[in-house]
Amino acid sequence: MPNIVVVGAGVSGLTTALLLSRKPGYRVTVVAKHMPGDYDIEYTSPWAGANYLPMSDADHSTYEKNTWPELARLATDVPEAGIHFQNTIIYNRHKDALTPTGQWLSTLTSPAPWFASLLPSFRVLPPSSLPPGIDSATAFTSVCINPAIYLPYLLSQCLSNSATFVRATISHIADASLLHASGARADVVVNCTGLLASKLGGVMDSDVIPVRGQIVLVRNDPGVMFTISGTDDGDDEVCYIMQRAAGGGTILGGTYQKGRSESQPDPNQAWRIMKRAVELCPALTGGKGIEALDVVRHGVGLRPLRTKGVRIERDGEVVHNYGHGGWGYQASYGCAEEVVGLVEEALRVKARL
Ligand code: FAD
Repeated sequence: MPNIVVVGAGVSGLTTALLLSRKPGYRVTVVAKHMPGDYDIEYTSPWAGANYLPMSDADHSTYEKNTWPELARLATDVPEAGIHFQNTIIYNRHKDALTPTGQWLSTLTSPAPWFASLLPSFRVLPPSSLPPGIDSATAFTSVCINPAIYLPYLLSQCLSNSATFVRATISHIADASLLHASGARADVVVNCTGLLASKLGGVMDSDVIPVRGQIVLVRNDPGVMFTISGTDDGDDEVCYIMQRAAGGGTILGGTYQKGRSESQPDPNQAWRIMKRAVELCPALTGGKGIEALDVVRHGVGLRPLRTKGVRIERDGEVVHNYGHGGWGYQASYGCAEEVVGLVEEALRVKARL
C-alpha cells in the first residue's frame, strides 16, 4: 500500500494525483497552499484560458500529443468536466516570423504542424478568405476548458478515488513526506509546485521564472477561438480569444512578459487587449466596437516557465513535475502519465533497498 504525497493542487498536481489515485492500492494525499476556488498570484491554474493550442515542436510533442485524447474524451462524454469543443482559427502575419512572439507560436502558426493529423478538421484557409493584414491562416477543432469547473472536477474525481487533501504550506520538500493523511511517512513525494519551485527549500530552482499574463474576462461571445502570430503593440503583447465552457465567459488575452510578476492589471494594457480583440474579431461586439464589451473582471496570472524546459524527473524518493509555462493544461495528462512511471520506479528502487 504505497503512501504518496503530491504537493500542489494546480492542474499539474491534480492531474497527477488523479492518475496515481487510480492505481490499485495507492494512497494519495494532496498537500497545497492554494486549492481550487482560490484566486492568488502564486496560483496559476485558475487564470488560464484554457485551451489546447500546441506550442511544442515535433521533437518535443509527446506530452501534448498524449493529452489530446483525454481532453477530447472529456469534451465528448463528461459534460460536468467543463470542457467543450471549439472551432479555432490561427492567423499568421509574415512580419511576426522573427519576433519573440512569432517564434514562440511558430508551431501553432505553421501551415503543416505535427498536430495537423491529430486535431479534427485541420485545414489551411484559402487566401481569398483572409482579413486585411493576415498572410495565412489555419483552422481546426480544439477544446476550451473552464478552470472554475475543471479544477474542482479533478479534485472531486480524486476524492471519489479516496485521495485526501491537506491545506498546508511547506518550506522544504523533505517536510512533505511527513504530511500523508495516514500519519505514516510517505514513500514518494511528487513536487507540482509550479512557480513556487523557485522558492521551495530543497528545490530552489532558479531556472523557474514568471511569465506575466494579463487577461480580460468578458460576457461577449466570439463564436470561434482566435489566435494571431503577433501584435503591433510590442514584443511582449499577444492577442487571443477563447470562450470557456459552461457559461465561463470569454477570455481576451493578453501579455507574455518574461520575468515580470506585477499582480495588478495594468489599465493601459487592458485597453490594448480589448482593442486588439475587437479588431481581430469584430463579431465579439456585433460590430459595435470596444464599448460594447461586457467585462466580468480583469486578471493576471504568472506562467511558471522553466528556461531549461519542464522538469519531469526522479530525484531519489521525490518526483518533480513543474515548469510548464503556458501549456500546463494541454500537456497535463502526458506529463502526469510520465510521473506515474517515475513514481513506480521510485517504489521499485525503495522495495529493493
Ligand atoms: P499552479 O497552478 O501554480 O499550482 C501550484 C500548486 O502548488 C498550488 O496549489 C500551490 O499552492 C502549490 N504550492 C506551491 N508551493 C507550495 C508550498 N511550498 N507548499 C504547499 N503548496 C505549494 N495552459 C494551457 O495549457 N492552455 C492555455 O490556454 C493556457 N492559458 C494560460 C493563460 C494565462 C493568462 C496563464 C497565466 C497561463 C495559461 N496557461 C495555459 C498555463 C497554465 O495555466 C499553467 O501551465 C498551469 O496552470 C501550471 O499549473 P501548475 O499546477 O504547475 O501550477
